[in-house]
Amino acid sequence: MSRPLILVSNDDGIRAPGLRVLAEFAEEFGEVIVCAPAEERSGFGHAITLRSPLRSHPAPEFAPNWHWLSGTPVDCVYFGVLHLCPRKPDLVLAGINPGYNLGSDVFYSGTVGAAREGLMKGVNALAVSVEAGADPRLALPFARRLIPSLLERGKAGETHLLNLNVPRRGPDGEGAPRDMVVCRLGRRRYDDQVSVRSDLNERHYFWIGGPPLPVAPDDGEDTGAIASGLAAVTPLELDITAPDLDVWAERLDE
Ligand code: MN
Repeated sequence: MSRPLILVSNDDGIRAPGLRVLAEFAEEFGEVIVCAPAEERSGFGHAITLRSPLRSHPAPEFAPNWHWLSGTPVDCVYFGVLHLCPRKPDLVLAGINPGYNLGSDVFYSGTVGAAREGLMKGVNALAVSVEAGADPRLALPFARRLIPSLLERGKAGETHLLNLNVPRRGPDGEGAPRDMVVCRLGRRRYDDQVSVRSDLNERHYFWIGGPPLPVAPDDGEDTGAIASGLAAVTPLELDITAPDLDVWAERLDE
């Protein structure tokens, strides 16, 4: 019986410390192949490169079976699954991202995008993020509980995508979190802003994006769970169709 094959990627680029932590950890569970963006691609969501060529190269300076790709996180998983892996992998891991991917972040996140691309290729996948500034190793005890069951589900012919977020502190505000809850995506709010600045030629340039706003600790949502010092795991699906189609069907009939 061969060991599981695990493809590891991220959106922070091949040099990111969280990638090394995750790839080394993954060796507990199987053979590991890493394909990561050559440069940081945070916030690239599910972007795919179709109109320009991609370059890839082995990166033995990091470890054997590590490769960089000149594209997005999704490109890395697409290319990794179809080209680098000698057979379809049993698991895609993405991260460990320095900063949460909660609620609507999952649409912007390259970490979640990479994992979701695994699911779209029929592979079980886990996206892993920790609170900004926290040690990525904080996520490992929780990933250790999730990975065997993802591998097991894969053997049963099922595919699942899990999004894991881990806060720096447990409920008492001291020490690492110990408990994990399964929850829905919550509501992630930011102080959205467009900042207008001037370059040396007095032409305008812009920064978009602002800091996250505090979250209400709603039960059952990932935003609330991490605010309560719990690791949050959210099973995600591809179908974002609204549950009630009749509402619009009726409007068309009016
Ligand atoms: Mn990132």
